[in-house]
Amino acid sequence: MEKTVQLYEGKAKKVFATADETLCVVSYKDDATAFNGLKKGTIVGKGVVNNRMSNMLMQLLEKQGVPTHFVKELSDRDTLVKKVAIVPLEVIIRNVSAGSFAKHYGVEEGIVFDEPTIEFSYKNDELGDPLLNSYHALALKLATKEEIETIKRLAFKVNEVLTEYFKTLKIRLVDFKLEFGRLSDGTIVLADEISPDTCRLWDIETNEKLDKDRFRRDLGGVEDAYKEVFKRLMGE
Ligand code: ADP
Ligand code: UDP
Repeated sequence: MEKTVQLYEGKAKKVFATADETLCVVSYKDDATAFNGLKKGTIVGKGVVNNRMSNMLMQLLEKQGVPTHFVKELSDRDTLVKKVAIVPLEVIIRNVSAGSFAKHYGVEEGIVFDEPTIEFSYKNDELGDPLLNSYHALALKLATKEEIETIKRLAFKVNEVLTEYFKTLKIRLVDFKLEFGRLSDGTIVLADEISPDTCRLWDIETNEKLDKDRFRRDLGGVEDAYKEVFKRLMGE
């Protein structure tokens, strides 16, 4: 399935139409942004890592009963996906304190929670992706009650599957962001990507950061961190 017109260019990916109106092609770039676009840069090879990693994890999740948008990997950077109407919620699951959680609640990073947490932000760049709860999401008609219940259930299921999987790669899944979308028949599926851009991944023994925090916080070794995750995942 060939890509035709470009529908959208985001910060990290482009989305193209195809001859089949139920499908589109996402094309992963090396562009990196942080702090709602204030910090910009390039992470060489990131597009390939994020594309192939997302596809591998989405296939794993499908096998475990989580419906996803994945259809077919077309190349190192391009993937055919089911076209969805994105539910404008960023769904964040946390297993360990880090990032904005540590900042908001004045705790150090690295506290392992007894139970995972879930939170939503309103996916809206102009407003800076403000935090909201499910009542706010309902009031704003971003999703129905049933959809929010489905999204919560699927997000925790994703966490269970990925936490166990990353453990086998000696990686701690600290936190991550998911996006869900609606197919034309209303079915909710996991969309967007799962990658070091959208997950915090720490080496299980050394706690070394193997994710986008290396870029956000100018820690150096950004490309190597993405390569290391890729190597552990693909054995390459
Ligand atoms: P952003 O829009 O935040 O800059 P990206 O650069 O990753 O993000 O752009 C990809 C866009 O494609 C995002 O807005 C994402 O919500 C959207 N998207 C992801 N998967 C699908 C899909 N299956 N169908 C339609 N849109 C999708
Ligand atoms: N995240 C993301 N996109 C966003 C915001 C967060 O992918 O727009 C991911 C981020 O990589 C981390 C998790 O969601 O894995 C939690 O991020 P947090 O709220 O701590 O935000 P940050 O530290 O990025 O401000």
